[in-house]
Amino acid sequence: MQVMIRKKRIRFCHRFVEKSDPFETLPDDLVICVLSKLCSSSAFPSDFVSALIACKRFNRLGHNQSVLSKSGQKLFGMRAKNWSESAHRFLKQCVKAGSVEACYFLGMIRFYCLQKRGSGASLMAKAAIRSHAPALYSLAVIQFNGSGGGKCDKDLRAGVALCARAAYLGHIDALRELGHCLQDGYGVPQNIDEGRKLLVQANARELSSVFPSVSLTSPSPRSLMTSHTAGNHRTLHHHQHQHFGQQVLTFSGSDAGTGALWSDSGCNVPAPEPHPVNRFLMDWFGLNGVEPGSGLRMCSHPGCGRPETRPHEFRRCSVCGTVNYCSRGCQSHDWKLRHKAQCTPAEEWPNEAGGGGHGGMVVAQGGEDGS
Ligand SMILES: [Zn+2]
Ligand SMILES: [Zn+2]
Repeated sequence: MQVMIRKKRIRFCHRFVEKSDPFETLPDDLVICVLSKLCSSSAFPSDFVSALIACKRFNRLGHNQSVLSKSGQKLFGMRAKNWSESAHRFLKQCVKAGSVEACYFLGMIRFYCLQKRGSGASLMAKAAIRSHAPALYSLAVIQFNGSGGGKCDKDLRAGVALCARAAYLGHIDALRELGHCLQDGYGVPQNIDEGRKLLVQANARELSSVFPSVSLTSPSPRSLMTSHTAGNHRTLHHHQHQHFGQQVLTFSGSDAGTGALWSDSGCNVPAPEPHPVNRFLMDWFGLNGVEPGSGLRMCSHPGCGRPETRPHEFRRCSVCGTVNYCSRGCQSHDWKLRHKAQCTPAEEWPNEAGGGGHGGMVVAQGGEDGS
């Protein structure tokens, strides 16, 4: 009898607690609003997934279209080894809900990893139409290289148009690419002055994007600048002394203030954090050990992860011929990051008497162009 009474009391208390749980009384749209915020601001996929598996209500409301449509780029920042059918399904759900980030992420994975070029490009186009700058720029890279097709599928004018739109939206690599196109008359009528202006703008933006997070140990921000001058823009010298470590810049050279923003390769600032999808591609073809295909090379910039889609698609460094890049943006980042210290002219290779300084970041050459 006593036991029965106690059981009843416990049941009663339990019901009372359940009823009085303020969380249960929250209206659905409020919970959806909170989950949307989480979905858009998650720093890792696990942040959002933990919420989804917390309770049935979170799971149900977390899959609401208005939540998934808000997904931020870091929500999909999974490792390539965790790629699975359910990850694919989740991305598709987000695409269906209208997430631009999901369109771009899945588009890149389809295009480069799963080699489904058509559906990959059309997903990227879906994001591009909605002014997603990285998608516009990635489509530009595809058009410039004729990726997924043959050499004759290069569409330089389309590449320039996509770059222009991405640049307008603030994409620095797109702005740099556009500057080079104008300078060289590549896909657009040549206009050297305009091109130079855009390159200077790209350098200035690159500098300002990094500057607030960097503490300078040198007296002047001008020390960030490289030793280029307008008339000497194709040459990078060996005696640059900037070092980057732990987000602290040190400077010990005498190059400060000599026309740095004029540099073709940009200011000497650390490369920006790669987009999560670039990290995914690097993982996929690197740690995951997936080969891009026989005779196909990866872009040499470690923050890119794009593979060639046909042999000799990417342009190589015209000095050493040992590195190749999908774009000028990647060439510029890699030059600053490491290649300027490694680039050795091919003719100087084994025991050759050094014939003067080399040209540094000279325009990469297209293997298939023979240029
Ligand atoms: Zn690249
Ligand atoms: Zn080189």
